[in-house]
Amino acid sequence: MTTMPEAAATSAATQNDDVILEVTNLKMHFPVSSGFLSRKPLGYVKAVDDVSFTVSRGETLGLVGESGCGKTTTGRCILQLYKPTAGQVKFNGQELTELGTKDMRLMRREMQVIFQDPYSSLNPRMTAGNIIGEPLVVHGLVRGKDEYREKVAELLVNVGLNPYMADRFPHEFSGGQRQRIGVARALSVSPSFIVADEPVSALDVSIQAQIINLLEDLQEQFNLTYLFIAHDLSVVRHISDRVGVMYLGHLVEMAERNEIYRNPIHPYTKALLSAVPIPDPVLDSQRERVLLTGEVPSPLNPPSGCVFHPRCPVANDSCPAYMPELREVETDHHAACLLATGYGSF
Ligand code: SF4
Repeated sequence: MTTMPEAAATSAATQNDDVILEVTNLKMHFPVSSGFLSRKPLGYVKAVDDVSFTVSRGETLGLVGESGCGKTTTGRCILQLYKPTAGQVKFNGQELTELGTKDMRLMRREMQVIFQDPYSSLNPRMTAGNIIGEPLVVHGLVRGKDEYREKVAELLVNVGLNPYMADRFPHEFSGGQRQRIGVARALSVSPSFIVADEPVSALDVSIQAQIINLLEDLQEQFNLTYLFIAHDLSVVRHISDRVGVMYLGHLVEMAERNEIYRNPIHPYTKALLSAVPIPDPVLDSQRERVLLTGEVPSPLNPPSGCVFHPRCPVANDSCPAYMPELREVETDHHAACLLATGYGSF
């Protein structure tokens, strides 16, 4: 089975030289054991399997795919919340997988996360002010109570909340307001890079747009770089500069935002896009429908060759035998499909 060579990893990058994050051949395989006392792994869940990409400073890279495709695990490996099984994660030129706990703690000021569920990610016993202000204290970024209160008030204003709300508890806020608190907490240490892990999935559609607009405003104001993770292509469309599509631990397509929506190449991306509703009934009736059959296979026992072949509507005899590499098939447009790369007997 082939793997993606380093040269291809680099070519999957945007052409902008100002790369803030470089992920190369990242793997995260979780051991599975038979029982509570058994330490011997029965196998491995290949949550992320040889993923490479780069993110440029100030860019938003959208990462999409169905639940269990490895996008959240990729985000956590980047932040070193999981120790990757293999591969490199370079942030600002620094290899994170080699950093000790102390150096990684310092690096965390630069790299923050916004979680999916604003209902469970905030401590219900802490006030909004303390939730937002805690990282300021942990990282020693404020001197004295006055500066602390001032900074918390400023962060609340930055995310569209009123400073008097600092004394309220999470249950006193709406879902959208709670996510704003999560955003303020991430912003508190002045990061340059944020992993937004499905930040709007738990919110009503009307509130989703508000949070996405807020993230865009903050990006401009603070020159932030985002890895924006979502399971829905329609959500990432608005905010992303480029979009990467993941399936069963693999990156199967990556291109500039408009290009991927206008000209999807991988059959899985086509299927995801054909499920996104189009408001215009004429356009909706004209577009190609790609219906997927079956469920996503288990990452514990992934299919041979192209992992998408059991569900792919255009698979042929070569697909179970060869794992396609992510290759540039059109300018700045990468796809991992034998059909697109002209490899195999098509
Ligand atoms: Fe489908 Fe084969 Fe392409 Fe995989 S390599 S996406 S199975 S056509």
